[in-house]
Amino acid sequence: MSTEFDIAIIGGGNAGLSLAAQLAAQDNPPSTVVIEPQTTQQRDCSWGLWALEQQTEQLSHSVKGRWRRWQLIDNTSRVVHSSNQYSYLSLSSADYLIDRAAQLRDPVSLIEDSVKALHSQQHKTIIETEKGRYSAKTVYDSRPPKIAEDGLRQHFLGWHIHTKEPIDDPDMATLMDFRVDQSRGLHFIYALPFSDHHMLIESTLISAELQPQTWYRDAIERWLRDNNIEVAEVICEETGVIPMDTLIADSASPVSDGMASIASIGAASGAVRRSSGYAFQHIQQQISQLAAGIAQGNMAVPTPISSRLTVMDKIFNGVLLSRPELAVSLYMRMAQALNGDQFARFMLGQATANDWLRVIAAMPKGPFLKESVKQTAKQILKWFLRQHKSA
Ligand SMILES: Cc1cc2nc3c(=O)[nH]c(=O)nc-3n(C[C@H](O)[C@H](O)[C@H](O)COP(=O)(O)OP(=O)(O)OC[C@H]3O[C@@H](n4cnc5c(N)ncnc54)[C@H](O)[C@@H]3O)c2cc1C
Repeated sequence: MSTEFDIAIIGGGNAGLSLAAQLAAQDNPPSTVVIEPQTTQQRDCSWGLWALEQQTEQLSHSVKGRWRRWQLIDNTSRVVHSSNQYSYLSLSSADYLIDRAAQLRDPVSLIEDSVKALHSQQHKTIIETEKGRYSAKTVYDSRPPKIAEDGLRQHFLGWHIHTKEPIDDPDMATLMDFRVDQSRGLHFIYALPFSDHHMLIESTLISAELQPQTWYRDAIERWLRDNNIEVAEVICEETGVIPMDTLIADSASPVSDGMASIASIGAASGAVRRSSGYAFQHIQQQISQLAAGIAQGNMAVPTPISSRLTVMDKIFNGVLLSRPELAVSLYMRMAQALNGDQFARFMLGQATANDWLRVIAAMPKGPFLKESVKQTAKQILKWFLRQHKSA
């Protein structure tokens, strides 16, 4: 096998393998290698997302569950959404990645290896791995981003269970049930019934600090008791940490045409929505645009989330951090203000001006105004420092 490539993709996750599969489908694909140390099974987890009918069909091979109705619950209210346009899907990441890997064809390939270091050399980058050495004109790096020590993150522990009795309403996804211990941060139970006897229950905490695993397990057991659900078997456990305050990888710089260069893609490029932790659709959009650009000779990576949306999410997170006692009500107010289609659009980052107006009208004005002023001041300071540096 050649060790010189037009493109090297570091990491065969959602971004890496989606990009490789799209390049492989082009008429004259660039020679491309994806370098990934782990098997898809080692990385299997559940990815949740909202999708329209056409995309749901395209993803059908990896869909584990699909719901047209979802709910958010707190101590005093319950918001139920239903949608004819959007489904909430749960994908098996392993099935998704296996399908993408199956679409690769010469000159696009996947190798099992781990990248140790990158060195720039004239118009190419040398990639040192555990097993060898490769070179590429362009490197797309999707290795997970660093998380700031005190950065906000979404961390969870979940159980797949078989229940003794049939589940009450298997057509309803519970996205957030806040009727749990709120003393360690914004805490909710996420519960997806895959059939009338199979359910995923996750205890999810949004905070800077992770808790011992027993804390999440206790929360799941308590929630099951409160909901009269008896466990016949715990099938498996999954855990995860999603950064909601991403740091871009140090090595990455924007790709410039004709030069050897390295750029981040996927979560490492800031594709995780700061207010929700959802990233799948932003990554898909970024990768489709990137693949289309590469076909035209443009290697630059598109920004996965618009700067306007990032600012709005920063304001939202700022209020979460400064006024934690409001956190549950912020999500409940947002859900109450929107119907199912509007909520799905909002979570997808595709809210219309009308959807935004509804959400803004439902939010407590004081804390949002204060946070907006703070964020604007930060932007002005950044702009001033940039001007000062370049002068
Ligand atoms: C547990 C978990 C659950 C999530 N659930 C959701 C969800 O429900 N919905 C949603 O929208 N988003 C979710 N996300 C966020 C996001 O969609 C996923 O993280 C998604 O996998 C990001 O894709 P990616 O390609 O950017 O990164 P990844 O899929 O993480 O891919 C990066 C790859 O880099 C590889 N790698 C690491 N080190 C090296 C190395 N040295 N050399 C080569 N390769 C290396 C890793 O093995 C990995 O496969 C979740 C994230 C996590 C962590």
